[in-house]
Amino acid sequence: MPKKRLLTPGPTQVPEAALLSMARQVTHHRTPEFTALFAEVFEGLQEVFQTTGDVLILAGSGTAAMEAAMVNTVPRGGTALVLNAGVFAQRWAHIAKAFGIEVIEHAVPWGTAVDPADVERLLRAHPLIQVVFGTLMESSTGVAHDVQAIGQIVNQTPALFVVDAISGAGVQECRMDAWHIDLLVVGGQKALMLPPGLGIVAVSDKAWTAMDRVKAQAFYLDLKLHRAKLREGPTTPWTPAHTLIGALAETLKIIRAAGMEAVWRQARRLAAATHAGAAALGWELFAARPADGMTALRVPQGIDADTFLKLLEARYGVKLASGQKELKGKIVRLAHLGIIDELDILGTLAAMELTLAEMGQPVRFGAAAGAAAASLFATHVE
Ligand SMILES: *Cc1c(COP(=O)(O)O)cnc(C)c1O
Repeated sequence: MPKKRLLTPGPTQVPEAALLSMARQVTHHRTPEFTALFAEVFEGLQEVFQTTGDVLILAGSGTAAMEAAMVNTVPRGGTALVLNAGVFAQRWAHIAKAFGIEVIEHAVPWGTAVDPADVERLLRAHPLIQVVFGTLMESSTGVAHDVQAIGQIVNQTPALFVVDAISGAGVQECRMDAWHIDLLVVGGQKALMLPPGLGIVAVSDKAWTAMDRVKAQAFYLDLKLHRAKLREGPTTPWTPAHTLIGALAETLKIIRAAGMEAVWRQARRLAAATHAGAAALGWELFAARPADGMTALRVPQGIDADTFLKLLEARYGVKLASGQKELKGKIVRLAHLGIIDELDILGTLAAMELTLAEMGQPVRFGAAAGAAAASLFATHVE
């Protein structure tokens, strides 16, 4: 049986220090030890997100944090602008509908990025918009949206800007405060390198002021309750997933030791190497504005995506993700975030060549891995 190599855009591989921390006996969470741990993690997340604002940690997957961001900022009957450019962005609209929130949907073709000028036009045309919901790295298409430019536009208005950075935060450059992001929504099992189970919401002062006027359709996810406990403790209103928070303390040590600039730079290197390898293989990028933390590749005509992915995993243990919804069978997605490194990328490209050859496709062995290696060498920094 081959070694397992998880390269999906979440969940991702967990560093050994985090795994070991979770092997310890469970302790109680209303203790000075937990308060100290929570304070340390709070500070670490502020650094990763580049914010001086509050960071709330919820027990739940990323979608719980999305729901929290929505119901705490828009009341029933309020109006939200959803920048829909993929499966995950579309989830904003689904959450809104579940809570009786009016949605103005700006849909762009999957694989393309939202044009910030359209956001400006829509905000002008619909002054009732209270919150703009966007995405940093759309994991269904591999697109990185220009969150910085959109943030600048929304900041000129009373509206809030909420960004799904569930997979993007910690790998794709993102500066919450400088880019005027009001709520940053993050998941634990992506670039933060945890097993699934944590949803995180970082909140700007502008957002708190707006949220103080909203009667949230929430109890468990009432962010004002979380803020109160943060001020008291710091702690959480309910039992936190504190074994995961302990693991987060470990992964944050790894991220902070490298520094955010270096983490973002390394992601750009791995993305460039993946693009070079894919080009040598003759596979095209799906994203018009490719993200740094993952790559979506169009599956060439004549290759069955499902067979390819199954064989790749069965023979070489390499687990990539297929396309979702209408992209099923059309693209494959691989991550280069967290502890995924140069050799994971080179190995994956080599395994892709072997798999294609086994499927009867013409392959020039070493071409993809060679192009990726050349790219890595050219971008190497001391
Ligand atoms: C993974 C992901 C989600 C969904 O998060 P869950 O943890 O599965 O609830 C939402 N948005 C993006 C961009 C993601 O990558």
